[in-house]
Amino acid sequence: MSKGISSKNDDYSQWYNDIVIKADLAEHSSVKGCMVIKPYGYSIWEKMQSVLDYKFKETGHQNAYFPLFIPKSYFSKEAAHVDGFATECAVVTHYRLKNDGNGNIIVDEEAKLEEELIVRPTSETIIWNTYKGWIQSYRDLPLLINQWANVVRWEMRTRLFLRTTEFLWQEGHTAHATKEEAIEETEKMLHVYADFVENWMAVPVIRGRKTENERFAGALDTYCIEALMQDGKALQAGTSHFLGQNFAKAFDVKFTSKEGKLEHVWATSWGVSTRLMGALIMAHSDDNGLVLPPKLAPTQVVIVPIHKGQEELDKITSFVDELIPQLKALGISVKYDDRDSQRPGFKFAEYELKGVPVRIAIGARDMENQTVEIARRDTKEKNTVAQKGLAMYIADLLNNIQTSMFEKALKFRDEHITEANSYEEFKELLETKTGFIAAHWDGTVETEKRIKEETKATIRCIPLNNKLEDGVCILTGKPSKQRVLFAKAY
Ligand code: AMP
Repeated sequence: MSKGISSKNDDYSQWYNDIVIKADLAEHSSVKGCMVIKPYGYSIWEKMQSVLDYKFKETGHQNAYFPLFIPKSYFSKEAAHVDGFATECAVVTHYRLKNDGNGNIIVDEEAKLEEELIVRPTSETIIWNTYKGWIQSYRDLPLLINQWANVVRWEMRTRLFLRTTEFLWQEGHTAHATKEEAIEETEKMLHVYADFVENWMAVPVIRGRKTENERFAGALDTYCIEALMQDGKALQAGTSHFLGQNFAKAFDVKFTSKEGKLEHVWATSWGVSTRLMGALIMAHSDDNGLVLPPKLAPTQVVIVPIHKGQEELDKITSFVDELIPQLKALGISVKYDDRDSQRPGFKFAEYELKGVPVRIAIGARDMENQTVEIARRDTKEKNTVAQKGLAMYIADLLNNIQTSMFEKALKFRDEHITEANSYEEFKELLETKTGFIAAHWDGTVETEKRIKEETKATIRCIPLNNKLEDGVCILTGKPSKQRVLFAKAY
């Protein structure tokens, strides 16, 4: 295709990589599995962060920061947790290098740490070890903390943004006096994530719970939001965990209740990562490049003058000089690209590649007619629009684009949820039609594992708004009370 981007129908995975690289979002670093997030990609991530951060604070949370390193012994305190993360841990064993005398820099064996440190793959252990000193009484609860940080999980198969060895994320860690309150928090934060992904990223999600097999290591219950990408594969976009009293017990965090009883604290944790960038790219983009929802686009509107000579440019510029403050007053981010080093066609392609939602082109004839040409990135529609009242027109248009991108993704998602009533049907669907498959399952880990081994499809979630319906498991024929959603996933 154009601009060196593969077609998404020919090779989806190459198409995705091409977009990340060509739109200048990120690149592979010299460290395997780790990426460099480039300024344009980072500016989108910053927008995501600022909206999420606002939402966390609005729901009563505060930010704090905990160490990158976790003593190895902390991990062993919660058995399921260490089991889940053991195979992905980067371990620091030494704290010094030395010259071996032959000009080689080697690890100084004399500088061995007494206790190895784990580079955090998630921070429950270090945080609950800290909370022990912070929580004594019911008056100290709830404790509602969030951390913005980087984490490391030694992933074997990585992909830009979607799965990297080091990634950026936020992790919420809350402590509560009662089980009910902790569950309420777990669900509340799931809804905060869902609201963000749907209303800012314009990506519809299914809110659900993970099965035991897919649960976070150390959680009693994992809630998730699952999104569908354009190739019909699912992506886990965020998780919220009810941790019960597991970490409070492991780290001996107790509080005196109102009744004067000493009790273990109840916990939650929840996180979204730079994987959201991958979801954003995969859900909307096309063969011409990135398509960004207006609410997360660093530049929402670009203005390109089309002129012969300085005089024409001056006329256009004087109009643009009046338009820009009007757009800014409406909270719209706008760029006027009057570089004379590039031709308009080059600029059009560049902004298309970068997903700028609205392009305004203005030529000499437009100035005579008091019009402009407006092109929207999502549908590629072009329209001639009057200069009078343009700022308000653009504000409405941006809202329309945001809504219509969501609706398009929602339609696609809903058209890609299919019921299967036998294992044959299920396998056939996996071959012919991608997306979610709603099927009955007997509720056991063994069945889920066998289906995964045989088909690569996993249970993405048990939707929260599930209808109860009697049926039989597609694999074992055992009774089932509800359908769960299977899919191949990233
Ligand atoms: P978890 O702590 O496993 O529940 O993960 C928290 C969030 O991080 C989820 O939204 C995951 O989708 C995301 N995530 C997990 N592993 C990775 C990874 N290797 N790269 C990027 N995001 C990840």
